[in-house]
Amino acid sequence: EIEIRALRKTFDGAEVLKGVDLTIQDGEFISLVGPSGCGKSTLLRVIAGLEPQSSGEVRIDGVSADGIRPSARNLAMVFQSYALYPHLSVFDNIAVPLRMKRLSALERTPFLGRLMPGRRRAERVIRDDVERVAEQLEISPLLKRKPGQLSGGQRQRVAVGRAIVRQPRAFLFDEPLSNLDAKLRVHMRAEIAQLHRQLKTTFIYVTHDQAEAMTMSGRIAVMIGGELIQVGTPSAIYEEPCDIRVAEFVGTPK
Ligand code: ATP
Ligand code: MG
Repeated sequence: EIEIRALRKTFDGAEVLKGVDLTIQDGEFISLVGPSGCGKSTLLRVIAGLEPQSSGEVRIDGVSADGIRPSARNLAMVFQSYALYPHLSVFDNIAVPLRMKRLSALERTPFLGRLMPGRRRAERVIRDDVERVAEQLEISPLLKRKPGQLSGGQRQRVAVGRAIVRQPRAFLFDEPLSNLDAKLRVHMRAEIAQLHRQLKTTFIYVTHDQAEAMTMSGRIAVMIGGELIQVGTPSAIYEEPCDIRVAEFVGTPK
C-alpha cells in the first residue's frame, strides 16, 4: 500500500502540490490525469523520492518513506523519453539496474563481498534474469542491438524491461506512450494492460490522454492545479463528474 498524506510541494514560492491525499492499494492500476502543469510529474517524483516534499508524507507499506533513498524504495519509474543508454546493447540496458544493485551492495558492506556470488556467477544470474524478461516482452531477438536500431515501440519495451527486471513493488509511469504515433500507442496500451494482469503489481500511470486512462485503469485520480479533485472508477468519473472541469476532461456529454 502506498499512502500519500497532506502532501505539499513548493518550487520557488509557488505551490505545485496543494495537500494531496491518496491511498493506492497493492496491485491496482490507477491513472493520474489532468492538464499540463497541474503537478502530475511532481507527484510521481516525490513518491519515487527523486524530489523532497515541502510537507506531508509518503508511506510505503505503513512506513514513512522520509529519508529512504529512491533505489531503496524499490519503485520503478518509466519515463516518456525512455532514457536508454545509446552506447549499450539492449541486453546491457536491461542489466543496468541489476549490476547497480550488486555494486551498491558491495560498496555498503564490503565484507559481504566474500559471501556474495563471484563476478562470473553474478553475471550468469543477471543473464538469466535479462533473458527471462526479454522473453516475457518478446524482445529476445533484439538483445544484441543498440537502441538506435530499434523502433519506438521496441524501445518502449526495452524501457519496460529495464523497469521490471528488478521486480519493483510498484511502477510509476510518466506518459510513457506520448512519443509514439497513434497506432502504436493503442497497441502499447493493450500491452501495458496485459503486463499489469501478468505482474499483478501496482501501476501508477500518468497520462493526459483520457481514452488511455478510461480503458486501462481500475481507478482514475483527476488532478487540477495541484489538487486531486476526484478519485474514482472510470465509470463513476464519466457518469458523475464532481465538477465541470472533470466533465470537460473526460468528455461527459452535457
Ligand atoms: P505535463 O502534463 O505538462 O507533464 P505536469 O502535470 O506533469 O505537466 P509538473 O511537471 O509536475 O506538471 O509541473 C507542475 C508545475 O511545477 C509546473 O508549473 C512546473 O513549471 C513546475 N515545476 C516542475 N518542476 C519544477 C522545478 N524543478 N523547478 C521549478 N518549478 C518546477
Ligand atoms: Mg509531466
